[in-house]
This record gives sequence, C-alpha cells and structure tokens, in this order.
Amino acid sequence: MKAAFIVAPRKFEIRDVEMPTINDDQMLVKIEACGVCTSDMAAYLDTWSEDVKQQRPFPRRVGHEPAGTVVEVGKNVEGFKEGDRITGIFGMGSFAEYAAFNPLGGPGARRAPMIEKIPDGIPIEHAIGEPLMCLMSIARTTTPELGDYVFQVGCGFMGLGVIAGVANPKLREYIVCDLEDWRLDLARELGATITLNPNKVDVVEEVMKITDGKGVDVAIEVVGHPPGMKMVGAVIKGNRGKIIAVGWHQAPDTYELMSWIKSPIIYSPQGIGMSTDPLSELPRAIWAIQKGIYPMEKLVTHRYKLEDIGKAFEDNLGRTKGYIKGVVMPFMT
Ligand SMILES: [Zn+2]
Repeated sequence: MKAAFIVAPRKFEIRDVEMPTINDDQMLVKIEACGVCTSDMAAYLDTWSEDVKQQRPFPRRVGHEPAGTVVEVGKNVEGFKEGDRITGIFGMGSFAEYAAFNPLGGPGARRAPMIEKIPDGIPIEHAIGEPLMCLMSIARTTTPELGDYVFQVGCGFMGLGVIAGVANPKLREYIVCDLEDWRLDLARELGATITLNPNKVDVVEEVMKITDGKGVDVAIEVVGHPPGMKMVGAVIKGNRGKIIAVGWHQAPDTYELMSWIKSPIIYSPQGIGMSTDPLSELPRAIWAIQKGIYPMEKLVTHRYKLEDIGKAFEDNLGRTKGYIKGVVMPFMT
C-alpha cells in the first residue's frame, strides 16, 4: 500500500510499504479521508523541540483525523463488520491507504481507539471525527451565559467551528477577529455579530468601546500565536471572566501573567489531540454534523490525492483564499 512520509523539512515522499495484516483482535480499515491539521505543521516544518525530533526522526508519518471503511474484521472483534464506515482516532500516520488496529485497545495499546460508525448520508470527508470531537469539547467547556459578551480571536477551521457550536442569540455580542475579511464574512454567517480585522482597527480598543470599558465575559483564543493570547488577556474582564485557550501553541513566548490572573478562569478544553470526554464527545460530534450544526460543506473546502499531500500542507500553511480545511483522500479518482 502507499503511505506518505515526511522525509525532510517541507518534503513529502509517497512510499510503498507492506500492507498491514490483522490478528484475531484487530480490523483493517481503508482510509478514505484524513484531515490536514495545523498541529501537523510542526512535524512538516521540523519545528518540534529537540527531544521530540529525536523521538520521531525522519522519515516520519502523520495524520490523526481519519475516516474510512472497514475491509476486514478479526474473529474476536464484536460490533463491527465489513463495509462499516468509521471515524475517530484509530492510528497516527493516517495519510496512507490502510490502517490495522485493535478496536478495543488490547495488550500493549496506549489507549482504546475512539471510533464511531458514520451514519449514511454523511460524505466521508465531512466525517473527520477527531477535530469535531475537539470542537464539541470546546463548545461544552465554553458555555457562555445569558447576556455575555464573547470575544474570539481566529476564524480558521477550528475558530469557525467554535462559533458554529457556541454562538447563540441570547449572547449580548459575539465579537470575532481575524486577518482575512472573507473569513470574517463566514464567521458572521455562522453567528458572529461583530467582526474586526486587526489590519484595519485596534481590536482591543474596539472591544473595550463595545463593552463600555468593562471587557468581555468570555474570551476564546483559536490561533496558536502569541498576539492572540495577548489580546485575550487585554480584553477579558476581572472577576470570573473566562478564557478558553484552544490554539495549538507550538513555540514559547513571554506573557504578562497579571493580565490573566486578575481573576479569570482559564480552560484548555483539549487534551493532547483529543477532547476531554472523547467517549461522549465523538458520538455528540457525529450527531451535530447530522443536525447541520457544523456546516461541513462550508468548512471542508479542499480535497487532495495522496500524491498531492505536499500541496495540501502548503495550502494549510499559506493563507490561500477560500481555504478553510483540506482533506487528503487516498482513493479519490
Ligand atoms: Zn487535528
């Protein structure tokens, strides 16, 4: 089968590898879609810390947002059959054609894979369970209260998904900021009420004006870069403000701790690559796609063949107009 390997910084190679074989406790899945995630970029750019680089030298495989179809089931596996479409977390290195894994965890497994069946009618590339499970976790953690001012930095895939899950007519305002006007338009469609572009206005000043100098009740950071986190500290109110730190920060920086400890509560609703309550949040996420709460047709904007994975990663890095989320589809014709 074919699998994508990062062989050097910013360089992929598609290699032929041994087809995985399964034992009686495992099943084999044909990976039909795997989302490209901003958290994959450090492996691609080789910006990991030295010890992580040593643990995971080149060539390295990534891909943790797979969805696919079961093609073979070991005789001890219950609850799944050939032809079932599944999603969730079932193996790192999912930019490849197939994956074998033990659906119940089993000896030596770090944790049981978190998988769910995909209901009929949902396109496979919309059923990328892992990031949706994280979005569900963020929505359940954020829970703004009646009349709250909410402020959010960042309108990429995760940012827009956060708006889709959190925006609600009972909020006073849902203020969002992003560097791209076309993303801000999409943010409005999903429920943001005020949009600000830091290239055009002083965002902190605007937010303080909107809130009569009091600051916001809930501030959400979905960027993963220091300016966003600093903005959040500048606009959050004292006394039970709530900061939701979602961004995947991959580099250290210096922050003014006082801006966060004037009393806000700080949540990071994601564990490492998963939600805080995955067994409940993966099924909830699938329900939410079915309900249309997450408008996947607007959020999954780009599809790539496995051999075009380098392009997919470059598109994710750049601010390609119209790009929200890319999905690699090894069997796309
Ligand atoms: Zn991800």
